[in-house]
Amino acid sequence: MTGCYTEGRMPLIGLDAAELASLLGPSQPAYRAKQLYQALYRDRAASFEAITTLPLPLRTELAVQHEFGLPTIEKRYDSVDGTRRYLLALGDDRTVEAVFMPEEDRDTLCISSQVGCPVNCQFCLTALLGLDRNLTAGEIIAQVLLLAREHRLDPRSRQLNVVMMGQGEPLLNLPNVVKASRILLDPNGVGLFERRLTISTSGITPKLAELGAEAVRPKLAISLNASSETQRRELMPITKKYHLRVLIDACRAYPLRPWEHLTFEYVLLKGVNDTDADAQRVVKLLGQLRCKVNLIALNPGPGIAFETPDPARVAAFREIVHRKIPCFVRKPRGLDIYAACGQLKLVSIDNATPTTQEPHGTSDADRRPAGHHQPAAHGRTAV
Ligand code: SF4
Repeated sequence: MTGCYTEGRMPLIGLDAAELASLLGPSQPAYRAKQLYQALYRDRAASFEAITTLPLPLRTELAVQHEFGLPTIEKRYDSVDGTRRYLLALGDDRTVEAVFMPEEDRDTLCISSQVGCPVNCQFCLTALLGLDRNLTAGEIIAQVLLLAREHRLDPRSRQLNVVMMGQGEPLLNLPNVVKASRILLDPNGVGLFERRLTISTSGITPKLAELGAEAVRPKLAISLNASSETQRRELMPITKKYHLRVLIDACRAYPLRPWEHLTFEYVLLKGVNDTDADAQRVVKLLGQLRCKVNLIALNPGPGIAFETPDPARVAAFREIVHRKIPCFVRKPRGLDIYAACGQLKLVSIDNATPTTQEPHGTSDADRRPAGHHQPAAHGRTAV
């Protein structure tokens, strides 16, 4: 095994305060679990030795039986625009990708929720992988902790956005996504500002209500990508099961918090879904919702049978939607390192040089890059 977990040592990241208390057992006073929880998530301790709030014998005991459970960085790719893409090895040697995107006034981390993805969006390279497995809550949280450490980011500052728009469909891994979100948003945990955590879904309609019922939850973005039922069935075959009409109804019923709006993401595909008539239908579909629309011109990739629309077409589409609904054109990030949305899959990166090659760098990473959502699909953009 070359991944992050040592055989027989149980990872701690992903455990909540109650689980840590039961792990420590009745011999430890209750406040020890709280101290451990804060050290793992709030203080992001680098090692057991660094958890000086715990007595030395307990630290030693924990270090024998456990590990934090951070993934191993297998490769890093740097883009000219400052985006850095990571290939991360999990404890079982499977890999996922996470991306750091710096901006002038804030930074965004894009993380994965599954290894591969079972949803077969036609414009998405990740879809070509299929689903391998769900990520655990710990594996989701660990991506944030690791990238925060790498880039010296403070998750508690309001300048950090985390978007679950990488590999996978978060709503098909809802229990782990919800558990991870609770720890990420907990002021005693990682402490992300609640408006700075977003998940993006292809529209697993029945799960929307489940997510909406959670007291602590991320913001919601929906990959729309089509302006009619028929068109969406073509582009996102999952629509055959979860109809567009039902999805819009579920969005209407979604319990938005007072400060919240839905974000709809729309990948523009040349000559497919980018006409004026499409824009008008989008307005009709979403007009009654408290929402905004993010447009992303397709990031082309091998194996994807669509083209990128001209900038003038993108602007015209935006103009029509924006008359009724706030609508923004999102800049793709990290195009040169295949880190932009939908480009992380199945692409051999001959012209992108990893800045660091870890010991496992000779793995199948280049041939089997971890994937993620397509642009508007689960957008590699800030929402
Ligand atoms: S766009 Fe998102 S949901 Fe669709 S296949 Fe890609 S990763 Fe899965």
